[in-house]
Amino acid sequence: MYLILLGPPGVGKGTQAQKLVERYGIPQISTGDILRGAVKEGTTLGRKAATFMDAGQLVPDDLMLDLVRDRLGGDDCSGGFILDGFPRTVPQAEGLEKVLTDLGKSINYVLSMKADPELLVKRLTARRVCPDCGRGYNLQTQPPKKEGICDVCGASLIQRSDDVEKTIRNRLKVYEDQTAPLEMFYRKKGLLHLIDGVGTIGEVFERMVADLDVLNSNGEL
Ligand code: AMP
Repeated sequence: MYLILLGPPGVGKGTQAQKLVERYGIPQISTGDILRGAVKEGTTLGRKAATFMDAGQLVPDDLMLDLVRDRLGGDDCSGGFILDGFPRTVPQAEGLEKVLTDLGKSINYVLSMKADPELLVKRLTARRVCPDCGRGYNLQTQPPKKEGICDVCGASLIQRSDDVEKTIRNRLKVYEDQTAPLEMFYRKKGLLHLIDGVGTIGEVFERMVADLDVLNSNGEL
């Protein structure tokens, strides 16, 4: 199963990817998480990426392709993966095809999650994350049991530096301008599946797996 999750910031790609990992036992590859890890560790990649990320801009394609080439070559990716947050531009999608061809693989399913942009602004301003275990919360719809504290590991929750309204609006615009054209890219290849991203986590998940479960059990993915 070589899957791509497309969708604007805040639509729930990360949350759904984690559930897909549990369901199908393939790794989630979140380029945003990898970049945030690099920024935290202060690596060369992290230093290059930080200014773009804080402005809500995309990190340059050549850096992203190097990162993804390394990651997809890992042993844990041999039976499949879920790409979450990559590709984000047409050149990234073209580069991904080359990387996968070299590895003897190809994408076989693309899920594009949809939601109204104003709902996404609301969701993202209310989003908090655990810096240690990565668990996500929403102050309105899914608050932690104890204010400011992760239910799972007890660490203090943080707000991502790019989850402030001005940067969120910029990220949404960047999505429309640079990433939304990927729908056409994958539609032409017959790989695109649209998913309504509005509803509970469980409802959205059921929409995602309805088709995937069948294809998977028929050995078609
Ligand atoms: P995310 O966690 O997916 O929202 O990503 C956070 C930020 O990381 C984005 O706003 C970009 O600055 C950067 N980023 C993540 N994935 C990519 C990508 N595929 N291409 C360029 N920049 C990316």
